[in-house]
Amino acid sequence: MFPIKPHWLNYIDGEWCDSPRSLTVSNPATGEPLATIAEAGSDDAERALAAARRCADNAELTRVRPAQRVTWLLRIAAEIRAVADEGAWVLCHENGKSLRDARDEFTEAARYFEYYAGLADKIEGTSIPLGDGYMDFTVYDPMGVSAQIVPWNFPVSICARSLAPALAAGNAVVVKSPELSPLGMCVLFQAIAKAGLPTGAVNLLCGPGRQVGARLVDHPHVDQIVFTGSVSTGQSILRSAAARAIPSVMELGGKSAALVFADADLPQLLDSVKSGIFFNAGQVCSAMSRLLVQRSVYEEVVGAVVALADGLHIGPGSDNPDLTPVISAGQLEQVEAMCRKAVDGGARLATGGGACRERAGWFMQPTVFRDVTPEMGISQEEVFGPVLVVIPFDTEEEALAIANGTEFGLVAGVFTQDISRAMRCARRLKAGQVFVNEWYAGGIETPFGGVGLSGFGREKGQEALYSYVRTKNIGIRVAGE
Ligand code: NAD
Repeated sequence: MFPIKPHWLNYIDGEWCDSPRSLTVSNPATGEPLATIAEAGSDDAERALAAARRCADNAELTRVRPAQRVTWLLRIAAEIRAVADEGAWVLCHENGKSLRDARDEFTEAARYFEYYAGLADKIEGTSIPLGDGYMDFTVYDPMGVSAQIVPWNFPVSICARSLAPALAAGNAVVVKSPELSPLGMCVLFQAIAKAGLPTGAVNLLCGPGRQVGARLVDHPHVDQIVFTGSVSTGQSILRSAAARAIPSVMELGGKSAALVFADADLPQLLDSVKSGIFFNAGQVCSAMSRLLVQRSVYEEVVGAVVALADGLHIGPGSDNPDLTPVISAGQLEQVEAMCRKAVDGGARLATGGGACRERAGWFMQPTVFRDVTPEMGISQEEVFGPVLVVIPFDTEEEALAIANGTEFGLVAGVFTQDISRAMRCARRLKAGQVFVNEWYAGGIETPFGGVGLSGFGREKGQEALYSYVRTKNIGIRVAGE
């Protein structure tokens, strides 16, 4: 147990700063206020951006040898590991997620800094042969100032996911935390602040998206936008990026399908369903929100999935249950409303469908819809809650058509013992990442990102580093050759 500070601050130009206004952060397991945080305004955004601009213009992260950035990133990782228990406690209580998963977020955050530390001195260009008389090569310059906007579902690990490669490549960064869950990110930044980075290299603001977030993405100091969040916000940010023609990484939502063939290993599948849709109360962009099941095993799979849902232990994150509350009263209402609309539209509820009314906090019942048709709203729209739809299919062709039949394309899964089938499906699935026989197979090392309304650009892995640099080609005419 750790005491949770009653009031938290923004981090601007190397200082922790208060504000005349504050936002209240609540505990989803109780619905009670937990703490307040200084609400950043436009003036704070200006100061943070000016600091980052100064740091970028003075090349404070790139005029040093790359080995210095390695050292900074490794120090950050060590400091994160040192605060992981306290940070997990704070994150669990502000976000609702289990203490175990909150701890994993801090470990993952440390891993991002270690991983990109390993690459910070290996951002190597190529030499291009142009024949005698020329030398030609490429170098990778940092973008400059990166504005990064973080959602509430995995605030600590998503923040690290973008911040670590941005710093490895030599960018200065202004991060905006989500209003509903900003405190774990403050603990993360307390760790980062101890690592000795140049002043202004990292800044953290918490404020309303439509004011502070919108100011960041519109600002002439910003050279790049990295956004993780909903499709509608992403589209509005893209309009700002288009106005200034600046590059962006968009990590948006999903409605990801698992294709379950008759030869799938049922216990293996059920493990994946449990983590795929009930982990983090289903508030995962890459959640397994659609289960497509071959008709010959449909009844068996539906029965097992409903039994799994009904057997989940529901409780506050501090008890490390199977299912935790959703983030807010508003989120709970939205999830319930989508379930009601699905029932009204003819979807058959197999279990759940409403809030856990006997509990004080914002708990949603684990919910399974069966015999759903692909065109129903509940098959097409992201719910962002513990809600699974199960759809029957007959042939591989039909399964692929249903899986690819939404506007999203974040991840997908195939469950089968037939490797050829798995490979055929993996190639034809419209998704940035395909899991075979284990949902969430992969890690911080594997590129992640979407197609269609799920966004573009890649985070994670070596590939993500190239989202944070610009290629410059230098051609030299060599005299006398
Ligand atoms: P959201 O779009 O409401 O908010 C995300 C962030 O954007 C918040 O920090 C918010 O304050 C800010 N914001 C809001 N309006 C803004 C504006 N006009 N200009 C700039 N910033 C603004 O999303 P959310 O509800 O926090 O997160 C849930 C969504 O995020 C889901 O759709 C989920 O699928 C998606 N998500 C995607 C990924 C991914 O990696 N693809 C990961 C996590 C979450």
